[in-house]
Parts: sequence; structure tokens; C-alpha cells
Amino acid sequence: MSETKKKTEIICIGAGASGLFFALNAADENNEVTLIDSNSKAGRKMYISGKGRCNITNNCDVKQFISNVVRNPKFLYSAINRFTPADTIEFFNTHECPLKTERGNRVFPVSDRSADIIDCLLRQCRKNRVNIQFDQKVTGIKKKDDRFIVSCGNRRYEADKLVIATGGRSYPSTGSTGDGYRFAEEFKHRIVEQKSALCPIRIKETIRHEMLDLTMKNVSLTCKADKFTKTIFGDLEFLPGSISGPIVLSMSSLINRIGEVEMSLDLKPALDEEKLDRRLLREIEAEPNKDVKHLLAKLLPASFIDFFIENTNTDTSIILNSLTKEKRLKLLKDLKHFKVSFMGLESIDKGIVTSGGVDVSEIDPRTMESKICKDLYFIGEVLDVDALTGGFNLQIALSTAYSCAAAIKQDI
Ligand SMILES: Cc1cc2nc3c(=O)[nH]c(=O)nc-3n(C[C@H](O)[C@H](O)[C@H](O)COP(=O)(O)OP(=O)(O)OC[C@H]3O[C@@H](n4cnc5c(N)ncnc54)[C@H](O)[C@@H]3O)c2cc1C
Repeated sequence: MSETKKKTEIICIGAGASGLFFALNAADENNEVTLIDSNSKAGRKMYISGKGRCNITNNCDVKQFISNVVRNPKFLYSAINRFTPADTIEFFNTHECPLKTERGNRVFPVSDRSADIIDCLLRQCRKNRVNIQFDQKVTGIKKKDDRFIVSCGNRRYEADKLVIATGGRSYPSTGSTGDGYRFAEEFKHRIVEQKSALCPIRIKETIRHEMLDLTMKNVSLTCKADKFTKTIFGDLEFLPGSISGPIVLSMSSLINRIGEVEMSLDLKPALDEEKLDRRLLREIEAEPNKDVKHLLAKLLPASFIDFFIENTNTDTSIILNSLTKEKRLKLLKDLKHFKVSFMGLESIDKGIVTSGGVDVSEIDPRTMESKICKDLYFIGEVLDVDALTGGFNLQIALSTAYSCAAAIKQDI
């Protein structure tokens, strides 16, 4: 008579991107998966991702992908190779959630609805009989006689294997409040200090009301510190007290462990100094009786002009035909090196991702298993990995989840 093999019981804490993808991949005839989340719904952070459209991955090859990872790219090499952006695209396209690729290789659902991505993942979870427990905040974890005991207030769950997919510390209203770090520490894991990443940068200059709707297209932002210089080209936006937009978000991830930086904007990056000077001379010659403000209107967005004048002490009373060479060159310098005063990054809860987390040197990069505690795994943003914008962070969640599920299924 054949004996039925006892299923391996697995608990995954967190029904975000990584937890859902882990659960649907791990659950099968040998593995019984219970997914626990403190929220009443799955994927709260994914729901607001990509401004509600969910930029689920980036349609690029592994090499390009890794070049967009800020922290611990080498650690991710194995996971991204195991489940690539192309695999993500195939997964959703073949599970009733067609995707499309936009500018910068950013991939979104054709419907432009993040809810469709979440529904797709939930459908597969249900199909594979994942047991989902909502409204259960995990308060403590213990390991006793090779079994994990997970407490949610008065309720207790037990399992042979435990996966921690609790996310980072940013946007805590979505459920990711940093509990995973505490759980990891209880198992003697080292936690790398968390910093805001992909977040606005606070500046000293007062942002004028009319700038709040402005997107400065095609400018470049340079940050300099000791042995560090980085320039990023693209779009910039303004918030009360801070600058934001794609180039600022990316820069924040690159400088979040540096401290003080000097920041400047090149407002005319397409023109080098010589070309810009020729342009200024042309404009002056064309309308010599107009004033400097009129000249600026030819060069800058209308709602930025007063801010520029205020912060460069530009004398607007001068009529162009009496603008000295010295004053013209100062104007040129201000346009190419417009200084903004760095006041620090926005707080961690306003970051799109968290930098820092579970030290990856204590995690097996092929399986996501702890090197300290057998049968304990960490996936997604709780790990000390983060990437730039463009769909890379969700792909990291999916790839680490997949690697973990595959390892548990193959028991490697
Ligand atoms: C505004 C915004 C926009 C974004 N847009 C994009 C984008 O377009 N593309 C992209 O690639 N990335 C984007 N990101 C980042 C991306 O959403 C995250 O990196 C990704 O969701 C991380 O997945 P995760 O599964 O690791 O964590 P999360 O999705 O944060 O999931 C963690 C889950 O764990 C649960 N949890 C935590 N603690 C406990 C506990 N004690 N008990 C029970 N449950 C618990 C939480 O409730 C949560 O559901 C965005 C992030 C934000 C904030």
C-alpha cells in the first residue's frame, strides 16, 4: 500500500508582490502555502504603484537590468537570470493580463490598471489553493523543534518553512512597516541601516506656488560630494519644499548614503556654453530694446522665471542693449549651473522604496534561504536591494520570490 507523503507546510508573511508570486509558484501537491497579511486586501503597495498603472517590469536584458540596481546588484544576478523580465511578460500575457511596453522599456498592463495585475496574481493563488489569511498582523515568530510558530495576536500558525515577504519601511500605510527587520533580527540576522530611496530631495529655496504644476523637461541635475559626481538628464518636478520627478528620484537613491552634496541644474543641457552664448547674443540682437526678463522668457518655462531671478539675483531692469559681457556671462553661468541648496532627502516613508534591510551576505542568492537559520527565507524589498525607477523593483520582488519557490519545490 502506498503511503501518502505529508505535505510541507509553508507560511509566507506578506501578500504584496513578492509574497503573492511566491505563494502561487510554491503551492502544489507537495507544498501547502499559507499567506498571511495584516491588510484586508492583497497588494496594497502594488495597487498604488506606477501612479495606479503598475510598471510591473522593464523590458530589458539581464545585463541592463543589473546596471539599474543600486544596492547589491551581484546578489540579484542569479535570481534575475532565473526569472527574467521576459519571463514576467510571458507570465502575465499567458494568464489573462496582457502587458504593453512604453517609453524607457517600462512595462504596464494593457488596461493601465494595477488592480488587474493583483487580480491575476490572486487568481493563480486561488487556483493553486493558497490559503490566504487577511487581517492577521504577525506579532512574533519562534522556531521550536524544526517548526516555525507564527503568532498573530492570540492566533498561532505553524509551518516547516517560513518566508518573510514583509517589504520595506516606505509608505507604511500600505502595510510595510518594517516588521520584517525585527523578525530577521530575532533570528540573529544583521540589518543594514535603512535610508530613503527614490524620494524627493528637500531644498532650501522657497518653491513658488505657480511651480507646483510645472514639469521641467530635459534638464540635468548634478550632485557633487567628495569623490562623487553624478549628472542625470530628464524631467524634474516641484513639490512644496522639495524637488521631485524621475531625475531627482534616481539621484536620491545614489546619494542616500553620502550625506551633504552640492546640487546644480543645467537648464539648457542641449547647448554647451559656446552655443548658449551664441543663442543669447542672437536673442539680444533680435530685440535689443527689451529687458532681461523678456530674454529669460525665450529660454525658460514662464512659471520658473521668477524663481530663477530670485535665486540668481538677476537684475531684470537692464535693457538688453546695455547688458555687459560680464552680465551676459553671469546669466549664462546661472542657466548652466543653477544652484539649489540640498537640505536632505525626504523621510523614509515618502520614498518609493527602502534602501537597506536584511544583509544579503547572510542569504543564499540562489534560494533566498537564510545562511543562519535553516528553512527561513527572505524575498522582495525586505532584503538590502533596491533599484532605480522603471519597473526594476517589482521585478526584483518577482524574481526573488520565484527563486525561493523553485528552490523549495526542488528542495535545493
Ligand atoms: C508609490 C509607489 C509607487 C511604486 N511604483 C512602482 C512601479 O511602478 N514599479 C516598480 O517596479 N516598483 C514600484 N514601487 C515599488 C514596489 O511597489 C515595491 O518595491 C514592491 O511592492 C515590494 O514588494 P514586496 O512584496 O517586497 O513588499 P510589499 O509590496 O510592500 O508587501 C509587503 C506586505 O507585507 C505585509 N506585512 C508587513 N508586515 C506584516 C506583518 N507584521 N504581518 C502581516 N503582514 C505584514 C504588508 O501588509 C504588505 O502587504 C512603488 C512603490 C510605491 C510606494
